[in-house]
Amino acid sequence: MPTCPRCHQAVDSQAITCPYCRTALKAYGHPGIPLYRAVEDEYLCQTCTYDEDNTCNFPQRPYAKECTLYHNRLHPPERLRYRLSWQATLRGWLQRHTGLLIVLGLLGVSLIVAMANR
Ligand code: SF4
Ligand SMILES: [Zn+2]
Repeated sequence: MPTCPRCHQAVDSQAITCPYCRTALKAYGHPGIPLYRAVEDEYLCQTCTYDEDNTCNFPQRPYAKECTLYHNRLHPPERLRYRLSWQATLRGWLQRHTGLLIVLGLLGVSLIVAMANR
């Protein structure tokens, strides 16, 4: 069970605020949006993946004390750890560009027919 970052009491993982000290635990009053908080005099950005890879453009960077997008760089998100094989990449590209391939195929056939009728 998670604990409140302020009073360290055990709290429900879906709790929007701490029932003991009323600290906000989720952002925008929504149980699905975790609100991360820095401990004491540290900043979240110091250990955030998105600061390290320079992809964050939040105005509070690099001094965020609270953030909904924080991700500890010691535990990178799945998308950073997961590398597609080249076959899977090619399959995805072919699926996304089926229309283009059909048009190119028709153009090729038209060219061959035009050349044959000369
Ligand atoms: S996502 Fe949040 S914690 Fe991470 S670098 Fe940006 S502002 Fe800082
Ligand atoms: Zn609390």
